[in-house]
Amino acid sequence: MVKVFIDPGHGGTDPGAVGNGLQEKNLTLTIARLIREMLLNEFVNVEVRMSRNSDITVSLAERSTLANNWNANYFLSIHINAGGGTGFESYIHSSVPSRTRQLQQVVHPAIISEIQVTNRGQKNANFAVLRNTSMPAILTENLFIDRTSDANLLKDPSFLNRVARGHVNGIAQAFNLQRKPTPPPAGTLYKIQAGAFSDKANADRMVSRLRADGYNPYLYQEGGLWKVQVGAFSNRTNAEDLISELARKGYQAAIVL
Ligand SMILES: [Zn+2]
Repeated sequence: MVKVFIDPGHGGTDPGAVGNGLQEKNLTLTIARLIREMLLNEFVNVEVRMSRNSDITVSLAERSTLANNWNANYFLSIHINAGGGTGFESYIHSSVPSRTRQLQQVVHPAIISEIQVTNRGQKNANFAVLRNTSMPAILTENLFIDRTSDANLLKDPSFLNRVARGHVNGIAQAFNLQRKPTPPPAGTLYKIQAGAFSDKANADRMVSRLRADGYNPYLYQEGGLWKVQVGAFSNRTNAEDLISELARKGYQAAIVL
């Protein structure tokens, strides 16, 4: 299980940077929530905690302590830049194990490739949350709130979605997160195949055997093979029940979609 601690910068009495009608603390929370939702909805081996999930004041010490006490595997601090520049940059602490740098080398480009803005580079800084966390930690500065063109992107929900998507892609790649299986579309038929044979005589023998056992098999040719289908179900549980029944009788059947 990979434990990802997400830290939406600022909050409560500390708005962070402000500009163009935006406040950093609101943007960082929106992005953090999107990242959490994507990670939990799409991957199986991941847990997420956040330093805050509302507009409350959390000290810098609390942020790193929460992550340290939880034994997080990764600390991700989300921020919005200010000062008149443009684009994206990420920070790690200057004295960190090489693992932290390796993770930045995966996560940073994954974000850039998703949001397609000026790449300001992978940087080092002595930020408190980077210094005081005991696991690999990264802090991302996602565009400039006081730059009109950047602010216009930050006002666009689909852009914030891409910011989150970039972080998620990077974390998924860096920690080898396993995707949840996507459910088959409605109307899917679970076909039960009791064998695929290059030799039709063998397929015919399987058909005879199944008939003798009371089944009504269907023989068809596909991809150069003779395939023996024993049933088709719209409900996966029913399909699996038949496979179990066949297995008890010595057949090796499988679901084919
Ligand atoms: Zn900030």
